[in-house]
Amino acid sequence: MSAVAEQPGGAFRPRPVSPAVSPSVDPKTRADAGRFPVERVAVAFRHFLESLGLDLADPNLVGTDRRVARAFEEMLSGLRAAEPELSTFPNSKADSGLVCVAEIPFYSICAHHFLPFFGQAHVGYVPGTRLLGLSKFARVVDFFARRPQIQEDLTEQVADLLDRRLAPAGLIVAMEGRHLCMEMRGISRLGVSTKTMAVRGTMENESLQRQFFSRLGESRR
Ligand code: ZN
Repeated sequence: MSAVAEQPGGAFRPRPVSPAVSPSVDPKTRADAGRFPVERVAVAFRHFLESLGLDLADPNLVGTDRRVARAFEEMLSGLRAAEPELSTFPNSKADSGLVCVAEIPFYSICAHHFLPFFGQAHVGYVPGTRLLGLSKFARVVDFFARRPQIQEDLTEQVADLLDRRLAPAGLIVAMEGRHLCMEMRGISRLGVSTKTMAVRGTMENESLQRQFFSRLGESRR
């Protein structure tokens, strides 16, 4: 995680102005990246276990190398997936208000420590001429979460794709995540939530942002 996320809790923060440090490959070049290298990852993880001096004949460790590789194949499936299909439909109402999709669960892997971080994403948008089916927001979040990530980039990537494909008048993506690299090590603070936010278009407006967060609050009562 970056320095800004070392001060977790409190309000959702926009990303500081800095170049993206995402390790992700460009989505356009990813589709032909081929299958997940299960065997290579299993061999590498076996070396890791050996370097710890563990007895790999222990019944609980037999096959662990391959199980770990298979688990990462699933957890990092976004590295090889094609960008999700997002069929939109026309917005018949000319003056649509804010649409909120709250509490989308996500699970990701911290690129800095390769430990899980997980939580909820919330999306709000003021429609332009197109609307998007509600289930598609979860697809977009999942697509970017399932790769080595930092939460700030994940938030921006979800916002960028929705902005590009949906062309809303305004868009906000807020994410809150618990990072095991902060809970199991480092500052060791249990249950702390890191909050990140990305805004586009009319959602830069603070009163619209307040409306969004108050709607989120209502959905939790
Ligand atoms: Zn980390």
